[in-house]
Amino acid sequence: MNVMRILLVEDEKNVASFIKKGLEEEFFNVDAAESGSEGLSMATANDYDLMLLDIMLPGMNGIELCRELRRRGMKVPILMLTAKDSVSNKVEGLESGADDYLTKPFAFSELLARIRALLRRASESVKELSLEDLRMDLLSRRVYRGGKEIVLTPKEFSLLEYLLRRKGRVLSRTQIIENIWGYNFDPNSNVVDVHIKYLREKIDTGFPEKLIHTVRGAGYILKAGNDR
Ligand code: CA
Repeated sequence: MNVMRILLVEDEKNVASFIKKGLEEEFFNVDAAESGSEGLSMATANDYDLMLLDIMLPGMNGIELCRELRRRGMKVPILMLTAKDSVSNKVEGLESGADDYLTKPFAFSELLARIRALLRRASESVKELSLEDLRMDLLSRRVYRGGKEIVLTPKEFSLLEYLLRRKGRVLSRTQIIENIWGYNFDPNSNVVDVHIKYLREKIDTGFPEKLIHTVRGAGYILKAGNDR
């Protein structure tokens, strides 16, 4: 399973650490912000799979933050958290562009179930992945670069899909092996390097801009720009 990255914006330290700890035990990667403006800058700088926004925050509140993220075109699933359970708050939250709503206090198991449901919905709604002129059609399972079709083996397709879903992030060989070949695969195998080489030959060779980059001592990253 891919490691999902969550941004939590919550000013109450106890609640924030309870949620962060619980989610990390479920193998989510959690960043925490304590105010709306800090949340906005983190959301802009990083690529999250889901955001948990408290409504009552110092400065910019959760509803304003959600509205701003949507105004900037961010489609990330957003779950609102609040102590208020009035109908008007719930309506305002959903109208600001949130996908779901949870009233405090809540059971952690309910939060987890809602997060999983939102992530599932989000991944099912994605039909195409892209970076620059590289395009992957998930329905027909076809890949194009600069409009030209690139034929990949099923393994190469899975690897490229994983890189595209995590574009802009450094991925270690272990992460890639666990996600594409499974936990039981020998982590010392050079299977990742071999398949990255195949992929490079297919998607980067002959194109002035390279998309697959090696990060020395760390792994690989899929991103725009020739700075390898
Ligand atoms: Ca609060």
